[in-house]
Amino acid sequence: MLISKVGLREEVIEFINTVKEFCEREFKDTLEWDAQEYMPHDLWKKMGDIGLTGMMLDADLGGLGDDLLTSVVIHEEMSVYSPAIAMTLGAHAILAGNVINRGGNKKQKEKYIPPIASGDKVAAICITEPEIGSDAAHPRTRAIKKGDRYILKGNKIFITNGPIADIFVVYARTSDDPKRGVSAFIVEKDFGNISVEKMHKMGMRASPTGFVTFNDTEVPEENLLRAEGEGIHIMMEGLDVERIGLSGSNLGMIKGSLDIASKYAKERMQFGQPIIDYQLIQEKLAYILSQLELNRLYLYNLAEIWRKYPGSKKLRAATALVKMTSAQAAVKSAEEAIQILGGYGYTTDYRVQMYWRDAKLYDIGAGTTEMMKILLSRRIEEGFADL
Ligand SMILES: Cc1cc2nc3c(=O)[nH]c(=O)nc-3n(C[C@H](O)[C@H](O)[C@H](O)COP(=O)(O)OP(=O)(O)OC[C@H]3O[C@@H](n4cnc5c(N)ncnc54)[C@H](O)[C@@H]3O)c2cc1C
Repeated sequence: MLISKVGLREEVIEFINTVKEFCEREFKDTLEWDAQEYMPHDLWKKMGDIGLTGMMLDADLGGLGDDLLTSVVIHEEMSVYSPAIAMTLGAHAILAGNVINRGGNKKQKEKYIPPIASGDKVAAICITEPEIGSDAAHPRTRAIKKGDRYILKGNKIFITNGPIADIFVVYARTSDDPKRGVSAFIVEKDFGNISVEKMHKMGMRASPTGFVTFNDTEVPEENLLRAEGEGIHIMMEGLDVERIGLSGSNLGMIKGSLDIASKYAKERMQFGQPIIDYQLIQEKLAYILSQLELNRLYLYNLAEIWRKYPGSKKLRAATALVKMTSAQAAVKSAEEAIQILGGYGYTTDYRVQMYWRDAKLYDIGAGTTEMMKILLSRRIEEGFADL
């Protein structure tokens, strides 16, 4: 008997079932999408129709409300079928959309949240630059005030949804002040002077990734989020939400690995016995199951605690911890599952190889595992305390 789902709220269970049914119906070709680096565009409308594009967005503006556990289970269930589509959806709603939802004023929210929540417009978040990755607080992209506009100039790399986005949330330097020099902007593709090149990746291949160039893009001053100098604060809060939501995807990949590998191990006969009878195979399955239970217990708990203390900096170390451990467990679980399937696991006929490539992203994206360890060790230096 597993315990990690005991006591889940009724509405969360309903969402789990809705996403499962949706994916069983709509996600039949995910291995093909992976091979072709393809995401069907009509998925946005379909995901919008059942509310998925509105994760972490205000309910009165068409979103699902700020129930982070619901976002976690959406990522989990969808990632069993396609971690790439779950990532694309997460970047749209809980990275870019949620930043506008939290940082935007009434007018900005009324303009941008409804089309993001419905999936009519696709959103992306632009933090990373060619020369600035982990050191995200020091962007080189500049936004220079000229009259009632900002002139945006710079390059952003690895931008999820970049090639298909209508709306970008962009972090740029507005002054050289070391603490308050970065600001966040809502930038529409239609503002012009924006070019995007599609990037090609080993995993998350159905999720379009782009190199985005802003070449003197004119951004109206009313599209500044909060105030000049608030960028880093907005970014850090956003990353906490992102790390919790996206970690759900790691659970989905661990669960998918367990489902595929355990079924296979029961059916595959070698030396006259199903391979599940061999202790070396049992050890791998036990590892995967234990990672699913432990990471899920921690993540679900953290998502519920977040609802009580939304935006609390005290939770930052916990978000880093779960992002790091669940990503590493997802990579290792997929690898063990490939091993259980032997040569078949190495073919593109099974999802386990896709999980392996996809899971590796979460060792890197939303802050690398090394940066998560640094963040945790700083908390140890400071002396951590119970919440
Ligand atoms: C598929 C994909 C999707 C992405 N989506 C987005 C997106 O939508 N928006 C966005 O803005 N970004 C996105 N990213 C970028 C991602 O967040 C960055 O790749 C990540 O933050 C790491 O930055 P970097 O790649 O420049 O690596 P670097 O920061 O250059 O790091 C290189 C290596 O050095 C290590 N390192 C760096 N600093 C230290 C240190 N102080 N101590 C020890 N080790 C260190 C790192 O851990 C890493 O191992 C995406 C990336 C990928 C691959």
